Amino acid sequence: MNRTSDQAAQNPSEEPYDVIVLGAGPVGENVAERTAAAGLSTVIVEDELVGGECSYWACMPSKALLRSGAALSDARAVGGAKEAVTAALDDAAVLRRRDGFASHWRDDSQVSWLDSAGIELVRGRGRLDGARRVAVEAPDGRHRLLVARQAVAVCTGSRAALPPLPGLDAARPWTSREATSAKEVPVRLAIVGGGVVGAEMATAWRSLGSAVTMLVRGDGLLPRMEPFAGELVSEALTEAGAEIRTGVSVTGVRREAAAGGPVSVLLDDGEQLVADEVLFATGRAPHTDDLGLESIGLTPGSWLEVDESCLVTAVPGGWLYAVGDVNHRALVTHQGKYQARIAGAVIGARAHGVPLPEEEPWGAYQATADSAAVPQVVFSEPEVASVGLTAAEAERRGLRVRVVDQDLGSVAGAALYADGYRGRARLVVDLDRGTVAGATFVGRGVAELLHSATVAVAGEVLLARLWHAVPSFPTISEVWLRLLEGYRDGK
Ligand SMILES: Cc1cc2nc3c(=O)[nH]c(=O)nc-3n(C[C@H](O)[C@H](O)[C@H](O)COP(=O)(O)OP(=O)(O)OC[C@H]3O[C@@H](n4cnc5c(N)ncnc54)[C@H](O)[C@@H]3O)c2cc1C
Repeated sequence: MNRTSDQAAQNPSEEPYDVIVLGAGPVGENVAERTAAAGLSTVIVEDELVGGECSYWACMPSKALLRSGAALSDARAVGGAKEAVTAALDDAAVLRRRDGFASHWRDDSQVSWLDSAGIELVRGRGRLDGARRVAVEAPDGRHRLLVARQAVAVCTGSRAALPPLPGLDAARPWTSREATSAKEVPVRLAIVGGGVVGAEMATAWRSLGSAVTMLVRGDGLLPRMEPFAGELVSEALTEAGAEIRTGVSVTGVRREAAAGGPVSVLLDDGEQLVADEVLFATGRAPHTDDLGLESIGLTPGSWLEVDESCLVTAVPGGWLYAVGDVNHRALVTHQGKYQARIAGAVIGARAHGVPLPEEEPWGAYQATADSAAVPQVVFSEPEVASVGLTAAEAERRGLRVRVVDQDLGSVAGAALYADGYRGRARLVVDLDRGTVAGATFVGRGVAELLHSATVAVAGEVLLARLWHAVPSFPTISEVWLRLLEGYRDGK
C-alpha cells in the first residue's frame, strides 16, 4: 500500500446517512425497514449473513430439525395412524430439509429484500467510533466511516456464552451453532445445560437417534418456567431414552484425539462421561465486546440498557438505540422484531419532528409488552407454551395472585388429538385486576394455543369477559373453559 492509500485507509472520508443499523439479523432488518419506509436514508452493516442467527443457526434450523420428529411422534400417538408407521426418521432427509430452511447458509434472498426495501448494505465489521460514527472494516480490509444524522441502532444480537473451563477450546465443543447446523448425527451427544436450547436440542438429536445425556446443574429442566413444564419434558425425554443428570457441574473437558476422537466430560462428582460431541447450552452473551463501546463511554461486553423506546439513555444526545437480543429485555425473535417496529417508529417520528405522546392510541412508541406479556414456545416433546408471569415471578413482583391448574388430558379435544394425551395448563390470575397475569400450556400441539393467552394477557382482558370467548368443540382450546370454571368454583 502506498502512502496515500494508507492514509485513506486510516482516515476514510465521512459517508453521511440518516440512520445506521449495526447488524442485519431479524431485528436490524426490521428497524431498517421502518426507518427506510419513513423516508430516512438507511444503511445496514453486517459482518456475516444477512438474516442473522435466527435464520441460519437458531430459530429456523432448530425448528426444522424438530418438526420431523414431532410429526412422527404425533402419528405414533394416534391409533390407526401408528400402525402405518413402519420405520424410524430418515436422518438424511431431515438434515436436507433443515438445510433448505437455513437457505443453505446463503443470504442472497435476504440481500435482494434489503435492496427492494431501499436499504443499503455494507458488508463488514462495524465499530462505534465516537458519537454517531461507525467505522466499518470490510472483509477485504478496506475501511469506511459512516456518520448518522439521526440515529445509530445497535442490533448486534447475542452469541453462545461458554464457561471458562480447562480444555474447553481444544475440545471443540458444540454451541447452538453446531447443534443446529451439524451434517451428521453424533452417536453419543452430551448436552450441558437444561434451558430452552438444551431441551430442544436434546429432543431433536434424540429423535434422530443420538444417545443423549443431559448434564444439568440445577434440579430440573426449564428453570425459568412453571416447574411442571420441566417435569413433563424431563419425563418424556427420559421415556424417549435420554439420560438426564441433575445437580451436576462440569469441571473440565478433554478431546481424546486431534480430529473425530471422543470427548471426555469431567464432572464435579468425580465421574467422567465420554461422548462423540458435547454441546454447551449454557446461556447467551451480548455481541458487544468488539463494538467500540469504549469510544462512547460504555463498557465493552455489556448488555445495552434501554428505555421503553429502545433508546440507550446512558448516552447523551438521544442518537443511540439498542434493539433485540443485545438489550437483554427478551431474547426471542418475535419480541426483538416488536421492539424494532417501535424503535423504527420512534426514530422516524423524532427525525420528522412528530411529537411522541405517551398516550398515543396504539402505544406504538413504547415496548410495554417486554415486561408483562412475552410469549415463548419450547418446541420440545411435549411442547411448552407460556406467556406473561409464572406464579413465582408474580409473587416476586408483589402481585396478589391465584393459580388455577387443569389436566389437559381430560379435555375432549386433547384426548382426540393423541391417545393417552398427557399435559397440563395453568393460569396465574391477578386478583386485584381480575385479569390473567400469566399462562402456561404443556402438551402436544399447544404452541398454536398460545396466542389466545397472549391476547388475554397483553389485552388485560377481564376474566368475566373471557367467559364469553367460547372455544370450539372439540379442540384443545376448551381448556380455557375448564380453567375459567376452575377459577369460578375456587378450585
Ligand atoms: C438454538 C436457538 C434457537 C432459537 N429459537 C428461537 C425460536 O424458535 N423463536 C424465537 O423467537 N427465538 C429463538 N431464538 C432466539 C433468536 O435466535 C434471537 O432472539 C434472535 O436471533 C435475535 O435477533 P437479533 O437480530 O437481535 O440478533 P441476531 O440474530 O444475533 O443478529 C445479529 C446480527 O448482527 C451481526 N453483527 C454482530 N456484531 C456485528 C458488528 N460489529 N458488525 C456488523 N455486524 C454485526 C451478526 O453477524 C448477526 O447477523 C433461538 C436462539 C437459539 C440460540
